[in-house]
Amino acid sequence: MDPVVGQQVLIENYRRENATIMTLCREDDLSDILGTIRNLEDRFNKDYHYDWVFLNNEEYSAEFKAKVSKFTSGRTRFGLIPKEHWSYPAFIDQEKARAERQLMEDDGVIYGGMESYRHMCRFNSGFFYKHPIMMEYKYYWRVEPHVEFTCDINFDPFRYMVENKKTYGFTITIHEFERTIQTLWKTTKKFLADHPEHVHKNNLAKFITNDNGDTYNLCHFWSNFEIADMDFWRSKAYEDYFHDLDKSGGFFYERWGDAPVHSIAAALFLDRDQLHYFKNIGYQHGVYQMCPIEDEIYDGNRCYCDKDNDFTFDGYACGKEFFDAMGWTKPANWEQYAN
Ligand code: GDP
Ligand code: MN
Repeated sequence: MDPVVGQQVLIENYRRENATIMTLCREDDLSDILGTIRNLEDRFNKDYHYDWVFLNNEEYSAEFKAKVSKFTSGRTRFGLIPKEHWSYPAFIDQEKARAERQLMEDDGVIYGGMESYRHMCRFNSGFFYKHPIMMEYKYYWRVEPHVEFTCDINFDPFRYMVENKKTYGFTITIHEFERTIQTLWKTTKKFLADHPEHVHKNNLAKFITNDNGDTYNLCHFWSNFEIADMDFWRSKAYEDYFHDLDKSGGFFYERWGDAPVHSIAAALFLDRDQLHYFKNIGYQHGVYQMCPIEDEIYDGNRCYCDKDNDFTFDGYACGKEFFDAMGWTKPANWEQYAN
């Protein structure tokens, strides 16, 4: 039993899981991240005091560290990302990468011309869980500077993951822009042909392909929110997969996001029962949000989001695909919220 009394948690006796909240951000994100910290502390962490790790490809200033530390209730840690986790591998033709960025920029693709965005996506795909600070933990909760938690979180999601043997937790699903991942599926299929042993027999391939693996349907878990077990990213299956993807150059010659990369791996290499949809964690990132549409969840957790704005069953999301692939029945009122 969790030591929960009403909405109060008796933290004195609470044994935290081996887990941390984690934020990758820049010095300039200070004011945004302070807002998010206040929000998540209020909705959750003030009762649990989990550590909060901040990672950056440059050193944070003393001011940044001091300010952030004032708002977190657990231990605050700051990590500098090693150069080899945020730079071009030797096999990348940087001139070709620059030319491809230009083409993508000309095509009007979001972040299409941005070099740092590609390092960020590659870092989130293959390196964050290898950072010396992150190596001390098993589970992480990824939190970005400009996001919002719109309901109370009256339970410990990390404990939920442990007790229910979950590996990957998400709140929002969405379709990827095809232009950013043109050869990702081809590269993945080649990997699968070389490594059939990594595919789980109870996988959720149906979530990511509508034609038995011929093409990728662009569905993925939106990785700006993730609560997951890093042992998965540290596994041989994922390590082999990331290595193959990296070698192909797609993180730089295209603009592969960590979201489709994580999602394809989770859908193929995990038992589908290891995936978890946190339908009770109201969450907003940019223009999209998951607002709990079930009255019991909404009313019981002081949610302030507007259910009409829930993205879950929007056509551009992949909630319908996820529920169908899992063989779940959608909430009774889902069509009311499917715009
Ligand atoms: P989006 O969510 O795809 O629109 O991309 P964001 O701009 O939110 O970036 C994703 C995450 O990476 C956020 O947590 C950002 O703070 C972080 N991020 C993006 N670029 C950089 C960078 O160059 N350096 C650092 N340290 N963090 C970055
Ligand atoms: Mn973001």
